[in-house]
Amino acid sequence: MKKLALHWKIIIGMVLGVVFGFVLLSTSWGREEVVTGIIPAYEKVVESIDNGKVVHSVEFVEAEEVKELKAKHFISRWVAPFGTIFINLLKLIAIPLILASLIKGISDLKDISKIKSMGLRTISIYVGTTVVAIIIGLSIVNVVEPGVGMPEETIEKIKLKYEDDDGVTDKLEKAVAQKEAGPLQPLVDIFPNNIFESFVEVSMLQVIFFAFFVGICLLLVDEKKAKPLINFFDSLNEVVMKMVDLIMFFAPYAVFALLANVIIAFDDTEILIKLLYYAFCVIGGLILMIVFYLVLVGVYAKKSPFWFLKKISPAQLLAFSTSSSAATLPVTMERVEEHLGVDKEVAGFVLPVGATVNMDGTSLYQGIAAVFIMQVIWPEGLTFTNQLIIVGTALLASIGSAAVPSAGMVMLVIVLESVGFPEELLPIGLALIFAVDRPLDMCRTVVNVTGDATVSMLVAKSLGKLQDEPQPKEWDDHYFEKIK
Ligand code: ASP
Repeated sequence: MKKLALHWKIIIGMVLGVVFGFVLLSTSWGREEVVTGIIPAYEKVVESIDNGKVVHSVEFVEAEEVKELKAKHFISRWVAPFGTIFINLLKLIAIPLILASLIKGISDLKDISKIKSMGLRTISIYVGTTVVAIIIGLSIVNVVEPGVGMPEETIEKIKLKYEDDDGVTDKLEKAVAQKEAGPLQPLVDIFPNNIFESFVEVSMLQVIFFAFFVGICLLLVDEKKAKPLINFFDSLNEVVMKMVDLIMFFAPYAVFALLANVIIAFDDTEILIKLLYYAFCVIGGLILMIVFYLVLVGVYAKKSPFWFLKKISPAQLLAFSTSSSAATLPVTMERVEEHLGVDKEVAGFVLPVGATVNMDGTSLYQGIAAVFIMQVIWPEGLTFTNQLIIVGTALLASIGSAAVPSAGMVMLVIVLESVGFPEELLPIGLALIFAVDRPLDMCRTVVNVTGDATVSMLVAKSLGKLQDEPQPKEWDDHYFEKIK
Protein backbone atom coordinates (compact mmCIF):
# COMPACT_ATOMS: atom_id res chain seq x y z
CA MET A 1 0.00 0.00 0.00
CA LYS A 2 2.94 2.31 0.76
CA LYS A 3 4.00 3.09 -2.77
CA LEU A 4 0.50 3.48 -4.10
CA ALA A 5 -0.47 7.06 -5.00
CA LEU A 6 -2.98 8.66 -2.67
CA HIS A 7 -5.77 8.76 -5.24
CA TRP A 8 -5.46 5.00 -5.79
CA LYS A 9 -5.66 4.33 -2.08
CA ILE A 10 -8.78 6.49 -1.92
CA ILE A 11 -10.33 4.74 -4.92
CA ILE A 12 -9.66 1.33 -3.33
CA GLY A 13 -11.26 2.56 -0.10
CA MET A 14 -14.31 3.75 -2.03
CA VAL A 15 -14.73 0.52 -3.98
CA LEU A 16 -14.40 -1.56 -0.82
CA GLY A 17 -16.93 0.69 0.93
CA VAL A 18 -19.45 0.17 -1.89
CA VAL A 19 -18.86 -3.60 -1.91
CA PHE A 20 -19.14 -3.75 1.87
CA GLY A 21 -22.44 -1.83 1.78
CA PHE A 22 -23.91 -4.21 -0.81
CA VAL A 23 -22.63 -7.31 0.97
CA LEU A 24 -24.16 -6.14 4.20
CA LEU A 25 -27.47 -5.45 2.49
CA SER A 26 -27.61 -8.85 0.89
CA THR A 27 -26.55 -10.97 3.82
CA SER A 28 -28.28 -11.15 7.09
CA TRP A 29 -26.00 -11.20 10.00
CA GLY A 30 -25.80 -9.47 13.27
CA ARG A 31 -27.35 -10.61 16.49
CA GLU A 32 -31.14 -10.57 16.47
CA GLU A 33 -31.33 -9.26 20.02
CA VAL A 34 -29.25 -6.25 19.04
CA VAL A 35 -32.04 -5.09 16.83
CA THR A 36 -35.01 -6.31 18.82
CA GLY A 37 -37.46 -3.52 19.14
CA ILE A 38 -36.23 -1.85 16.00
CA ILE A 39 -36.77 -4.64 13.54
CA PRO A 40 -39.98 -6.57 13.23
CA ALA A 41 -39.30 -10.30 13.01
CA TYR A 42 -41.14 -11.92 10.15
CA GLU A 43 -43.00 -15.17 10.58
CA LYS A 44 -43.72 -17.73 7.96
CA VAL A 45 -46.01 -20.73 8.21
CA VAL A 46 -44.28 -23.77 6.79
CA GLU A 47 -46.23 -26.81 5.68
CA SER A 48 -44.57 -30.18 6.05
CA ILE A 49 -45.58 -33.85 6.15
CA ASP A 50 -44.92 -35.78 9.29
CA ASN A 51 -45.95 -39.46 9.39
CA GLY A 52 -48.33 -38.89 6.53
CA LYS A 53 -49.93 -35.93 8.23
CA VAL A 54 -49.72 -32.33 7.16
CA VAL A 55 -48.25 -30.22 9.95
CA HIS A 56 -47.91 -26.51 10.09
CA SER A 57 -45.06 -24.90 11.91
CA VAL A 58 -43.99 -21.31 12.31
CA GLU A 59 -40.56 -20.24 11.19
CA PHE A 60 -38.88 -16.90 11.45
CA VAL A 61 -37.61 -15.67 8.18
CA GLU A 62 -35.53 -12.70 7.36
CA ALA A 63 -37.45 -10.37 5.09
CA GLU A 64 -35.57 -7.96 2.83
CA GLU A 65 -36.55 -5.13 5.11
CA VAL A 66 -35.08 -6.89 8.11
CA LYS A 67 -31.79 -7.28 6.29
CA GLU A 68 -31.79 -3.65 5.28
CA LEU A 69 -32.54 -2.41 8.78
CA LYS A 70 -29.89 -4.65 10.25
CA ALA A 71 -27.34 -3.32 7.76
CA LYS A 72 -28.32 0.29 8.52
CA HIS A 73 -28.12 -0.38 12.22
CA PHE A 74 -24.66 -1.91 11.95
CA ILE A 75 -23.26 0.73 9.62
CA SER A 76 -24.62 3.68 11.54
CA ARG A 77 -23.13 2.34 14.77
CA TRP A 78 -19.85 0.85 13.71
CA VAL A 79 -18.84 2.25 10.34
CA ALA A 80 -20.34 5.71 9.71
CA PRO A 81 -18.70 7.31 12.80
CA PHE A 82 -15.29 7.00 11.10
CA GLY A 83 -16.60 9.06 8.17
CA THR A 84 -17.99 11.61 10.60
CA ILE A 85 -14.65 11.90 12.42
CA PHE A 86 -12.91 12.57 9.10
CA ILE A 87 -15.39 15.25 8.02
CA ASN A 88 -15.17 16.83 11.48
CA LEU A 89 -11.39 17.04 11.19
CA LEU A 90 -11.62 18.69 7.78
CA LYS A 91 -14.19 21.16 9.03
CA LEU A 92 -12.04 21.80 12.09
CA ILE A 93 -9.20 23.13 9.99
CA ALA A 94 -11.27 24.90 7.32
CA ILE A 95 -11.68 28.19 9.21
CA PRO A 96 -8.04 28.52 10.42
CA LEU A 97 -6.93 27.65 6.90
CA ILE A 98 -9.09 30.28 5.20
CA LEU A 99 -8.02 32.88 7.74
CA ALA A 100 -4.34 32.11 7.54
CA SER A 101 -3.97 31.68 3.81
CA LEU A 102 -6.18 34.60 2.85
CA ILE A 103 -4.62 37.06 5.30
CA LYS A 104 -1.11 35.95 4.35
CA GLY A 105 -2.03 35.91 0.66
CA ILE A 106 -3.54 39.39 0.57
CA SER A 107 -0.70 40.90 2.56
CA ASP A 108 1.78 39.26 0.17
CA LEU A 109 0.19 40.98 -2.81
CA LYS A 110 1.67 44.20 -1.48
CA ASP A 111 -0.50 46.31 -3.74
CA ILE A 112 -4.22 47.00 -3.41
CA SER A 113 -4.72 47.40 -7.17
CA LYS A 114 -3.58 43.77 -7.62
CA ILE A 115 -6.31 42.67 -5.22
CA LYS A 116 -8.87 44.51 -7.30
CA SER A 117 -7.78 42.89 -10.54
CA MET A 118 -7.62 39.45 -8.91
CA GLY A 119 -11.11 39.92 -7.44
CA LEU A 120 -12.60 41.11 -10.72
CA ARG A 121 -11.00 38.33 -12.75
CA THR A 122 -12.11 35.69 -10.27
CA ILE A 123 -15.71 36.80 -10.14
CA SER A 124 -16.02 37.25 -13.91
CA ILE A 125 -14.51 33.83 -14.68
CA TYR A 126 -16.76 32.27 -12.04
CA VAL A 127 -19.85 33.84 -13.59
CA GLY A 128 -18.68 32.85 -17.08
CA THR A 129 -18.13 29.16 -16.24
CA THR A 130 -21.45 29.01 -14.40
CA VAL A 131 -23.35 30.40 -17.39
CA VAL A 132 -21.62 27.81 -19.61
CA ALA A 133 -22.71 25.09 -17.16
CA ILE A 134 -26.35 26.18 -17.20
CA ILE A 135 -26.39 26.41 -21.00
CA ILE A 136 -24.91 22.89 -21.27
CA GLY A 137 -27.54 21.62 -18.82
CA LEU A 138 -30.47 23.28 -20.57
CA SER A 139 -29.30 22.12 -24.01
CA ILE A 140 -29.06 18.50 -22.89
CA VAL A 141 -32.41 18.42 -21.12
CA ASN A 142 -34.18 20.05 -24.08
CA VAL A 143 -32.67 17.70 -26.62
CA VAL A 144 -32.98 14.45 -24.64
CA GLU A 145 -36.30 15.35 -22.95
CA PRO A 146 -35.94 12.81 -20.12
CA GLY A 147 -39.24 13.86 -18.56
CA VAL A 148 -41.44 13.54 -21.65
CA GLY A 149 -43.66 10.50 -21.64
CA MET A 150 -43.00 9.33 -18.11
CA PRO A 151 -45.77 6.81 -17.35
CA GLU A 152 -48.57 8.03 -15.04
CA GLU A 153 -48.13 5.04 -12.75
CA THR A 154 -44.44 5.85 -12.18
CA ILE A 155 -45.34 9.42 -11.30
CA GLU A 156 -48.03 8.16 -8.92
CA LYS A 157 -45.61 5.75 -7.27
CA ILE A 158 -42.96 8.39 -6.76
CA LYS A 159 -45.59 10.82 -5.49
CA LEU A 160 -46.88 8.32 -2.97
CA LYS A 161 -43.47 7.44 -1.72
CA TYR A 162 -41.76 10.81 -1.47
CA GLU A 163 -44.33 13.62 -1.51
CA ASP A 164 -44.56 13.67 2.28
CA ASP A 165 -41.04 12.47 2.91
CA ASP A 166 -39.19 14.39 5.63
CA GLY A 167 -36.35 15.11 3.21
CA VAL A 168 -38.70 16.79 0.72
CA THR A 169 -40.62 18.76 3.37
CA ASP A 170 -37.36 19.88 4.93
CA LYS A 171 -36.08 21.29 1.62
CA LEU A 172 -39.37 23.13 1.02
CA GLU A 173 -39.27 24.66 4.50
CA LYS A 174 -35.68 25.80 4.06
CA ALA A 175 -36.54 27.35 0.70
CA VAL A 176 -39.45 29.29 2.26
CA ALA A 177 -37.15 30.59 5.02
CA GLN A 178 -34.59 31.65 2.42
CA LYS A 179 -37.24 33.48 0.38
CA GLU A 180 -38.81 35.21 3.36
CA ALA A 181 -35.47 36.65 4.39
CA GLY A 182 -35.60 39.09 1.44
CA PRO A 183 -33.45 39.50 -1.66
CA LEU A 184 -30.62 41.43 0.02
CA GLN A 185 -30.25 39.06 2.96
CA PRO A 186 -27.43 37.04 1.33
CA LEU A 187 -25.51 40.32 1.00
CA VAL A 188 -26.19 41.30 4.60
CA ASP A 189 -25.06 37.85 5.69
CA ILE A 190 -21.55 38.49 4.38
CA PHE A 191 -20.88 41.12 7.03
CA PRO A 192 -20.52 39.62 10.50
CA ASN A 193 -21.13 41.50 13.72
CA ASN A 194 -19.23 39.01 15.80
CA ILE A 195 -16.40 37.14 14.15
CA PHE A 196 -16.32 34.47 16.85
CA GLU A 197 -19.91 33.64 16.06
CA SER A 198 -18.89 33.31 12.39
CA PHE A 199 -16.13 30.89 13.43
CA VAL A 200 -18.53 28.84 15.50
CA GLU A 201 -21.13 28.69 12.76
CA VAL A 202 -18.50 28.09 10.06
CA SER A 203 -19.94 30.98 8.03
CA MET A 204 -17.40 30.91 5.25
CA LEU A 205 -18.30 34.14 3.49
CA GLN A 206 -18.14 36.04 6.78
CA VAL A 207 -14.74 34.61 7.58
CA ILE A 208 -13.55 35.41 4.05
CA PHE A 209 -14.74 38.99 4.47
CA PHE A 210 -12.98 39.31 7.83
CA ALA A 211 -9.73 37.82 6.50
CA PHE A 212 -9.88 40.10 3.50
CA PHE A 213 -10.44 43.11 5.72
CA VAL A 214 -7.52 42.20 7.98
CA GLY A 215 -5.29 41.48 4.94
CA ILE A 216 -6.01 44.86 3.35
CA CYS A 217 -5.43 46.71 6.62
CA LEU A 218 -2.12 44.91 7.04
CA LEU A 219 -1.11 46.47 3.73
CA LEU A 220 -2.17 49.89 4.92
CA VAL A 221 -0.38 49.97 8.27
CA ASP A 222 3.31 50.46 8.85
CA GLU A 223 5.30 47.45 7.57
CA LYS A 224 7.16 46.97 10.85
CA LYS A 225 3.91 46.86 12.79
CA ALA A 226 2.30 44.49 10.29
CA LYS A 227 5.17 42.00 10.22
CA PRO A 228 4.46 40.06 13.46
CA LEU A 229 0.85 39.43 12.50
CA ILE A 230 1.80 38.41 8.95
CA ASN A 231 4.42 36.03 10.33
CA PHE A 232 1.87 34.58 12.71
CA PHE A 233 -0.59 33.81 9.90
CA ASP A 234 2.20 32.50 7.70
CA SER A 235 3.18 30.07 10.40
CA LEU A 236 -0.45 29.12 11.07
CA ASN A 237 -0.88 28.45 7.36
CA GLU A 238 2.11 26.06 7.31
CA VAL A 239 0.84 24.19 10.34
CA VAL A 240 -2.68 23.81 8.98
CA MET A 241 -1.34 22.59 5.63
CA LYS A 242 0.60 19.95 7.52
CA MET A 243 -2.61 19.01 9.30
CA VAL A 244 -4.20 18.41 5.89
CA ASP A 245 -1.35 16.00 5.02
CA LEU A 246 -1.88 14.08 8.24
CA ILE A 247 -5.66 13.98 7.94
CA MET A 248 -5.30 12.65 4.40
CA PHE A 249 -3.60 9.53 5.73
CA PHE A 250 -6.97 8.63 7.08
CA ALA A 251 -8.83 9.41 3.82
CA PRO A 252 -8.87 5.88 2.30
CA TYR A 253 -10.50 4.48 5.46
CA ALA A 254 -12.89 7.40 5.81
CA VAL A 255 -14.18 7.10 2.25
CA PHE A 256 -14.81 3.41 2.92
CA ALA A 257 -17.12 4.43 5.78
CA LEU A 258 -18.74 7.28 3.84
CA LEU A 259 -19.51 5.16 0.79
CA ALA A 260 -20.80 2.17 2.76
CA ASN A 261 -23.17 4.60 4.44
CA VAL A 262 -24.34 5.99 1.10
CA ILE A 263 -25.06 2.51 -0.28
CA ILE A 264 -27.32 1.50 2.57
CA ALA A 265 -29.23 4.76 2.29
CA PHE A 266 -30.61 3.97 -1.19
CA ASP A 267 -34.06 2.77 -0.52
CA ASP A 268 -35.87 2.10 -3.75
CA THR A 269 -33.79 0.77 -6.58
CA GLU A 270 -36.87 0.36 -8.77
CA ILE A 271 -37.59 4.10 -8.69
CA LEU A 272 -33.90 4.78 -9.13
CA ILE A 273 -33.96 2.83 -12.39
CA LYS A 274 -36.99 4.81 -13.61
CA LEU A 275 -35.02 8.01 -13.12
CA LEU A 276 -31.90 6.77 -14.86
CA TYR A 277 -32.64 8.74 -18.00
CA TYR A 278 -32.75 11.98 -16.04
CA ALA A 279 -29.69 11.00 -13.99
CA PHE A 280 -27.72 10.27 -17.17
CA CYS A 281 -28.56 13.73 -18.50
CA VAL A 282 -27.13 15.32 -15.35
CA ILE A 283 -24.06 13.06 -15.34
CA GLY A 284 -23.49 13.62 -19.09
CA GLY A 285 -23.64 17.39 -18.55
CA LEU A 286 -21.23 17.17 -15.62
CA ILE A 287 -18.76 15.16 -17.71
CA LEU A 288 -18.95 17.80 -20.45
CA MET A 289 -18.20 20.43 -17.83
CA ILE A 290 -15.08 18.55 -16.73
CA VAL A 291 -13.99 18.37 -20.40
CA PHE A 292 -14.56 22.13 -20.64
CA TYR A 293 -12.28 22.70 -17.61
CA LEU A 294 -9.61 20.45 -19.08
CA VAL A 295 -9.67 22.48 -22.29
CA LEU A 296 -9.31 25.70 -20.26
CA VAL A 297 -6.39 24.22 -18.32
CA GLY A 298 -4.70 23.07 -21.53
CA VAL A 299 -5.33 26.20 -23.59
CA TYR A 300 -5.05 29.05 -21.08
CA ALA A 301 -2.96 27.67 -18.25
CA LYS A 302 -0.80 25.72 -20.74
CA LYS A 303 -0.67 22.65 -18.50
CA SER A 304 -1.40 19.06 -19.41
CA PRO A 305 -5.05 18.18 -18.61
CA PHE A 306 -3.96 14.69 -17.49
CA TRP A 307 -1.42 16.13 -15.08
CA PHE A 308 -4.13 18.44 -13.75
CA LEU A 309 -6.56 15.55 -13.24
CA LYS A 310 -3.93 13.43 -11.50
CA LYS A 311 -2.97 16.21 -9.13
CA ILE A 312 -6.48 17.31 -8.24
CA SER A 313 -8.01 13.81 -8.05
CA PRO A 314 -7.74 13.33 -4.26
CA ALA A 315 -9.87 16.46 -3.80
CA GLN A 316 -12.34 15.24 -6.44
CA LEU A 317 -12.64 11.86 -4.77
CA LEU A 318 -13.30 13.47 -1.41
CA ALA A 319 -15.86 15.80 -2.95
CA PHE A 320 -17.60 12.71 -4.31
CA SER A 321 -17.49 10.89 -0.98
CA THR A 322 -18.54 13.81 1.25
CA SER A 323 -20.93 15.70 -1.12
CA SER A 324 -19.63 18.90 0.38
CA SER A 325 -17.32 21.46 -1.21
CA ALA A 326 -16.90 23.09 2.19
CA ALA A 327 -15.64 19.90 3.84
CA THR A 328 -13.34 19.29 0.85
CA LEU A 329 -11.94 22.84 0.87
CA PRO A 330 -8.81 22.18 2.98
CA VAL A 331 -7.81 19.35 0.65
CA THR A 332 -8.60 21.42 -2.46
CA MET A 333 -6.39 24.19 -1.11
CA GLU A 334 -3.55 21.83 -0.34
CA ARG A 335 -3.71 20.21 -3.79
CA VAL A 336 -4.00 23.51 -5.65
CA GLU A 337 -1.21 25.28 -3.76
CA GLU A 338 1.29 22.49 -3.36
CA HIS A 339 0.56 20.15 -6.27
CA LEU A 340 -0.77 22.46 -8.99
CA GLY A 341 1.59 25.29 -8.08
CA VAL A 342 -0.91 28.12 -7.65
CA ASP A 343 0.56 30.78 -5.36
CA LYS A 344 -0.95 31.14 -1.90
CA GLU A 345 -2.26 34.62 -2.50
CA VAL A 346 -4.39 33.40 -5.40
CA ALA A 347 -5.45 30.02 -3.97
CA GLY A 348 -6.18 31.61 -0.58
CA PHE A 349 -8.70 33.95 -2.18
CA VAL A 350 -10.10 32.10 -5.19
CA LEU A 351 -10.78 28.75 -3.52
CA PRO A 352 -12.68 29.76 -0.35
CA VAL A 353 -14.74 32.24 -2.37
CA GLY A 354 -15.31 29.58 -5.04
CA ALA A 355 -16.39 26.95 -2.52
CA THR A 356 -19.33 29.14 -1.60
CA VAL A 357 -20.17 31.07 -4.73
CA ASN A 358 -18.94 29.02 -7.68
CA MET A 359 -21.01 25.90 -8.10
CA ASP A 360 -21.07 24.99 -11.75
CA GLY A 361 -22.17 21.42 -11.09
CA THR A 362 -25.04 22.64 -8.93
CA SER A 363 -26.24 25.19 -11.47
CA LEU A 364 -26.07 22.65 -14.31
CA TYR A 365 -28.11 20.25 -12.18
CA GLN A 366 -30.62 22.96 -11.27
CA GLY A 367 -31.19 23.76 -14.95
CA ILE A 368 -31.73 20.11 -15.87
CA ALA A 369 -33.82 19.29 -12.80
CA ALA A 370 -36.09 22.32 -13.22
CA VAL A 371 -36.83 21.56 -16.88
CA PHE A 372 -37.17 17.81 -16.19
CA ILE A 373 -39.77 18.47 -13.49
CA MET A 374 -41.62 20.81 -15.82
CA GLN A 375 -41.55 18.24 -18.63
CA VAL A 376 -43.20 15.72 -16.29
CA ILE A 377 -45.80 17.76 -14.45
CA TRP A 378 -46.02 21.25 -15.88
CA PRO A 379 -45.22 21.15 -19.61
CA GLU A 380 -47.22 24.32 -20.31
CA GLY A 381 -44.57 26.28 -18.40
CA LEU A 382 -41.80 25.26 -20.78
CA THR A 383 -41.48 28.48 -22.74
CA PHE A 384 -38.30 30.03 -24.10
CA THR A 385 -38.67 33.02 -21.75
CA ASN A 386 -38.93 30.69 -18.77
CA GLN A 387 -35.76 28.93 -19.81
CA LEU A 388 -33.98 32.29 -20.00
CA ILE A 389 -35.26 33.06 -16.51
CA ILE A 390 -33.82 29.72 -15.38
CA VAL A 391 -30.37 30.78 -16.65
CA GLY A 392 -30.49 33.86 -14.44
CA THR A 393 -31.99 32.28 -11.35
CA ALA A 394 -29.86 29.12 -11.50
CA LEU A 395 -26.80 31.39 -11.62
CA LEU A 396 -27.96 33.28 -8.52
CA ALA A 397 -29.20 30.11 -6.83
CA SER A 398 -25.87 28.37 -7.22
CA ILE A 399 -24.14 31.40 -5.73
CA GLY A 400 -26.58 31.31 -2.84
CA SER A 401 -26.37 27.54 -2.27
CA ALA A 402 -24.43 26.48 0.80
CA ALA A 403 -21.47 24.18 0.14
CA VAL A 404 -23.07 21.28 1.99
CA PRO A 405 -24.91 18.11 0.92
CA SER A 406 -28.24 18.67 -0.79
CA ALA A 407 -28.10 22.47 -0.72
CA GLY A 408 -28.66 22.59 -4.47
CA MET A 409 -32.08 21.01 -4.08
CA VAL A 410 -33.24 23.71 -1.66
CA MET A 411 -32.29 26.41 -4.13
CA LEU A 412 -33.97 24.47 -6.94
CA VAL A 413 -37.28 25.40 -5.29
CA ILE A 414 -36.43 29.06 -5.78
CA VAL A 415 -35.49 28.44 -9.42
CA LEU A 416 -38.85 26.74 -9.99
CA GLU A 417 -40.76 29.51 -8.27
CA SER A 418 -39.09 32.14 -10.42
CA VAL A 419 -40.82 30.75 -13.51
CA GLY A 420 -44.21 30.67 -11.79
CA PHE A 421 -44.25 26.92 -11.11
CA PRO A 422 -47.52 26.18 -9.27
CA GLU A 423 -46.89 26.03 -5.54
CA GLU A 424 -49.13 23.03 -4.98
CA LEU A 425 -47.02 21.00 -7.41
CA LEU A 426 -43.72 21.78 -5.64
CA PRO A 427 -43.75 18.76 -3.28
CA ILE A 428 -44.43 16.46 -6.25
CA GLY A 429 -41.70 18.17 -8.24
CA LEU A 430 -39.11 17.60 -5.54
CA ALA A 431 -40.42 14.08 -4.92
CA LEU A 432 -39.70 13.29 -8.58
CA ILE A 433 -35.98 13.86 -8.26
CA PHE A 434 -35.50 13.02 -4.60
CA ALA A 435 -34.55 9.35 -5.00
CA VAL A 436 -31.52 10.14 -7.14
CA ASP A 437 -30.50 13.35 -5.42
CA ARG A 438 -27.72 11.90 -3.29
CA PRO A 439 -25.70 10.25 -6.09
CA LEU A 440 -26.16 13.33 -8.26
CA ASP A 441 -25.11 15.54 -5.37
CA MET A 442 -21.91 13.51 -5.10
CA CYS A 443 -21.21 14.00 -8.80
CA ARG A 444 -22.05 17.71 -8.94
CA THR A 445 -19.83 18.40 -5.93
CA VAL A 446 -16.89 16.91 -7.91
CA VAL A 447 -17.59 19.44 -10.66
CA ASN A 448 -17.95 22.29 -8.15
CA VAL A 449 -14.53 21.51 -6.69
CA THR A 450 -12.87 20.96 -10.10
CA GLY A 451 -14.30 24.27 -11.30
CA ASP A 452 -12.77 26.13 -8.35
CA ALA A 453 -9.39 24.51 -8.95
CA THR A 454 -9.52 25.34 -12.68
CA VAL A 455 -10.43 28.97 -12.09
CA SER A 456 -7.65 29.35 -9.53
CA MET A 457 -5.17 28.14 -12.17
CA LEU A 458 -6.52 30.54 -14.77
CA VAL A 459 -6.40 33.51 -12.40
CA ALA A 460 -2.90 32.53 -11.24
CA LYS A 461 -1.70 32.20 -14.83
CA SER A 462 -3.09 35.60 -15.76
CA LEU A 463 -1.30 37.21 -12.82
CA GLY A 464 1.98 35.37 -13.37
CA LYS A 465 1.45 33.42 -10.16
CA LEU A 466 1.43 29.85 -11.48
CA GLN A 467 4.63 27.98 -10.70
CA ASP A 468 6.19 25.93 -13.49
CA GLU A 469 7.35 23.12 -11.25
CA PRO A 470 5.35 22.88 -8.05
CA GLN A 471 7.12 21.26 -5.11
CA PRO A 472 4.62 19.41 -2.96
CA LYS A 473 5.56 19.09 0.68
CA GLU A 474 5.36 15.67 2.25
CA TRP A 475 3.87 15.23 5.69
CA ASP A 476 7.32 14.58 7.19
CA ASP A 477 9.35 17.12 5.23
CA HIS A 478 11.00 18.59 8.28
CA TYR A 479 10.72 15.65 10.62
CA PHE A 480 14.17 14.19 10.09
CA GLU A 481 15.90 17.55 10.43
CA LYS A 482 14.30 17.80 13.83
CA ILE A 483 15.36 14.43 15.22
CA LYS A 484 18.97 14.64 14.04
N1 ASP B 1 -23.25 19.49 -2.30
C1 ASP B 1 -22.90 20.59 -3.16
C2 ASP B 1 -21.59 21.19 -2.70
O1 ASP B 1 -21.25 21.13 -1.55
C3 ASP B 1 -23.97 21.62 -3.20
C4 ASP B 1 -25.20 21.05 -3.87
O2 ASP B 1 -25.26 21.05 -5.10
O3 ASP B 1 -26.09 20.55 -3.19
O4 ASP B 1 -20.87 21.71 -3.52
